[in-house]
Amino acid sequence: MYHTKAYSAASATSPLASTKIQRRNPTEHDVQIEILFCGVCHSDVHQVRNEWSSIMPTVYPIVPGHEIVGRVTRIGAAVAKYQPGDLAAVGCMVDSDGNCPQCKAGLEQFCPNMILTFNSPDKHLGGVTYGGYSETIVVDERFVLRVPSHLNLAGAAPLLCAGITTYSPMRCWGVTKGRKVGVVGLGGLGHMGVKFAHAFGAHVVVFTTSPGKKDDALRLGAHEVVVSRDANAMQKHTGSFDFILDAVSAHHDINAYINLLRPDGTITIVGAPEKPLAVSAFSLLMGRRNLSGSLIGGIAETQEMLDFCGKHNITADVELIPIQKVNEAYERLLKADVKYRFSIDMASLKSE
Ligand code: NAP
Ligand code: ZN
Repeated sequence: MYHTKAYSAASATSPLASTKIQRRNPTEHDVQIEILFCGVCHSDVHQVRNEWSSIMPTVYPIVPGHEIVGRVTRIGAAVAKYQPGDLAAVGCMVDSDGNCPQCKAGLEQFCPNMILTFNSPDKHLGGVTYGGYSETIVVDERFVLRVPSHLNLAGAAPLLCAGITTYSPMRCWGVTKGRKVGVVGLGGLGHMGVKFAHAFGAHVVVFTTSPGKKDDALRLGAHEVVVSRDANAMQKHTGSFDFILDAVSAHHDINAYINLLRPDGTITIVGAPEKPLAVSAFSLLMGRRNLSGSLIGGIAETQEMLDFCGKHNITADVELIPIQKVNEAYERLLKADVKYRFSIDMASLKSE
């Protein structure tokens, strides 16, 4: 074991603060990574504040962070894919059983024994896993990914969650040329959803509560922007969408979007608000519409997404912050005030 610097929260009402945590020394199949950048996902905020207590109660102290890009510093004896000095990335998962039907299908995110990057049982050290708001992390090579080296690394970090969470459902539900696709909520996930839908050739419509994001939405690749509080503008799109991705972090009326689907259209929820959303049966049964959800993506698909981003030069639009500004960043996320992902420059942790 060794110690590494990190930022943790001691309770649901405590700010994140500098600390030291233990990491295991790399075992046979492990890769040790010095973290260069870590994105700030709204899931970090939900979990630091224990907003998902009924599904996955937070164990304190919590070290969040699951959008990790860094450089390999040490490898275990049996590691074949990585060498010290290589760029490497880690997303939301660090382990799974590897032999259940979901793992065999490349859907590790649905493995009953999947281990999340933070706040999951740590089978090596006991306690819970600690995430990317830290100097280093040690991960089984099966859960380490390759980042195309020409990408901006601060902007590549958010691909590991915001990227795969929007790429995967769009691939699953066939977002392609000629489809009319909606993206609800222009935050970290939403802005990646716009970039992917655009890259897949769809006609992209952004739904936002923030009129000030209109120009950005168009620049990011949207063809139309609707301010969702404008009932008339919403009405014009009734019954017309093939697919809608709902990436809203807070309570909202999902029926307003279900009603915009054409017959047999699909809305996929990726946002994970604290409280259940009320669904009108009529919104669904009128037009045989589909309501679905999606959770990140499997490891192979995450690599496919990173390679796609390499080929099309896609990264997140980031505001780079030192770790000392992370509490402020959380407050700004709650006000939808981010353009469009905070990425922590982990070099700032060295001065703690
Ligand atoms: P984010 O950057 O904070 O973006 C959320 C966006 O939702 C905001 O920018 C805002 O967009 C909109 N919004 C916020 N409050 C709203 C309200 N009261 N009513 C309507 N719209 C509102 O968050 P994120 O990191 O993209 O994450 C979004 C959600 O996805 C979170 O709940 C997160 O936990 C979840 N998530 C799920 C997965 C998964 O695997 N399914 C993975 C990662 C994250 P506008 O300003 O455009 O309205
Ligand atoms: Zn996330």
